[in-house]
Amino acid sequence: MSAGVLAGKVALVTGAGSGIGRATCRLLARDGALVIAADRNLKAAQETALQLGADRSAALEVDVSSAQSVQSSVTEAIAKFSKAPSIVVNSAGITRDGYLLKMPERDYDDVYGVNLKGTFLVTQAFAKAMIEQKLEHGSIVNLSSIVAKMNNVGQANYAATKAGVISFTEVASKEFGKFGIRVNCILPGYIDTPMVAVVPDAVKQQVVQRCPLGRLGQPEEIAEVIAFLASPQSSYVNGAAIEVTGGLK
Ligand code: NAD
Repeated sequence: MSAGVLAGKVALVTGAGSGIGRATCRLLARDGALVIAADRNLKAAQETALQLGADRSAALEVDVSSAQSVQSSVTEAIAKFSKAPSIVVNSAGITRDGYLLKMPERDYDDVYGVNLKGTFLVTQAFAKAMIEQKLEHGSIVNLSSIVAKMNNVGQANYAATKAGVISFTEVASKEFGKFGIRVNCILPGYIDTPMVAVVPDAVKQQVVQRCPLGRLGQPEEIAEVIAFLASPQSSYVNGAAIEVTGGLK
């Protein structure tokens, strides 16, 4: 990535207090963006922002599953750097794994609320702000997962939401293209973050064996692709679903 390619741009990253979101904040800041680290866990978002430097970053508390919280976050985000973010990364996500016959409705709703409805609420609210502020270019990057294609036993709720993110991304890319807003999504494989830390070792070993590169990914290896999708260097990439899995299928 060329140094300073995102200079003058404001980026908002959800799920910025951990894992892929935090790594994304680092790389977007490296490329020159002013970064708003947004998370339900404000303390974690503040730690991310602190790593980036007080003049170039800000932290924001948001629960992406709540329309009211997302709406307030738009006003707050615009106030941080006096303009709407033109880069939005939907990295907030959760798992509540369990076999279907035993899955509580609550676990289904929670995963749906963050992963798919949250992506919808944030995308809608911030796209509106980009359009209202007549930003010339926008880039929205959503986090799907290779689980959307692997459809693992015990992950019906998570797999369904991540498959939904792919369809949602494609529709949004078709509706927002005329406003100069590109929308893409990434399907990471198994990445070494707190989300995967709770996966049993035996399962991780199986994944590593099936992965042609023979290892888990690092959050920065996803963040590099997000930084590319956020930048003008990907100006003709729209509606794409990019697998970043080390070759794991
Ligand atoms: P993580 O658990 O390390 O971080 C997720 C962050 O999202 C946390 O900081 C958490 O506080 C925040 N969050 C959770 N619910 C929220 C809410 N309602 N509102 C705002 N913030 C909320 O996870 P990660 O591994 O960095 O995953 C990031 C994204 O990438 C997720 O969407 C995940 O599904 C996806 N993904 C991860 C992997 C992986 O292997 N780690 C693989 C494929 C896809």
